Amino acid sequence: SLTVGVLALQGSFAEHVTSLSGLPDPNLAVVEVKTPASLAKCDGLIIPGGESTTMALVARRWGLIEPLREFAGKGRPVWGTCAGMIFLANAAVAGTKEGGQELIGGLDIGVSRNFFGAQINSFETRLPAPQSLQSVQRGVPRDNIKETFRAIFIRAPAVMHVGKDVEVLGEYKLTDEERAEDASRPEKVVVAVRQGSLLATAFHPEVTDDRRWHALFVDMVSASAAKLGKAVESADAK
Ligand code: GLN
Repeated sequence: SLTVGVLALQGSFAEHVTSLSGLPDPNLAVVEVKTPASLAKCDGLIIPGGESTTMALVARRWGLIEPLREFAGKGRPVWGTCAGMIFLANAAVAGTKEGGQELIGGLDIGVSRNFFGAQINSFETRLPAPQSLQSVQRGVPRDNIKETFRAIFIRAPAVMHVGKDVEVLGEYKLTDEERAEDASRPEKVVVAVRQGSLLATAFHPEVTDDRRWHALFVDMVSASAAKLGKAVESADAK
């Protein structure tokens, strides 16, 4: 069986645990990760939304920053949503003076931490589904529109810079109203990316009933476990 961890220091980790548990995959073990020892048992990890500076402080205090960097550095899949996306980025612009937070890094993107936060705290839209999402196996719960997905943004970041090895999986086109607020705003921003074993989304699939992003991530974990070997022989043999 595969073991997928959800970093459970702060933020919306419970929703990810529920989403993973809703996948039609009997061989999937889901664990909450709070320590380096529990991380070592995982074949892949989700870093949830929340507040990225707080998450970084707690991770530092609990001795998880280096183990997280090693985990991702080995090629074990990591998916960051919202604050998790910021945490995985190589660079973050706070948009406020506080700045200076610690990042795991590894994902060659530059993010604006509160790109959507200042104007709109929370909003929902549908975005075009990338091909990889549309081809997720049958039986995975989703709504009946296949070509798009529900994207929920909660004080969300946006990707302002994308490195050359980064694949763009989602973009958000700003409305005229949003652009009118600030002339320097771009026409569109990137909100979902993949670079090798790293996946990041600015929105929150774990608060919708669409499980395709989770299924896509579990596919990445399964492919990497086949290549790297499983973290533990069997999740039951802990
Ligand atoms: N903008 C927040 C941060 O800086 C993230 C918000 C979220 O995860 N919902 O951490």
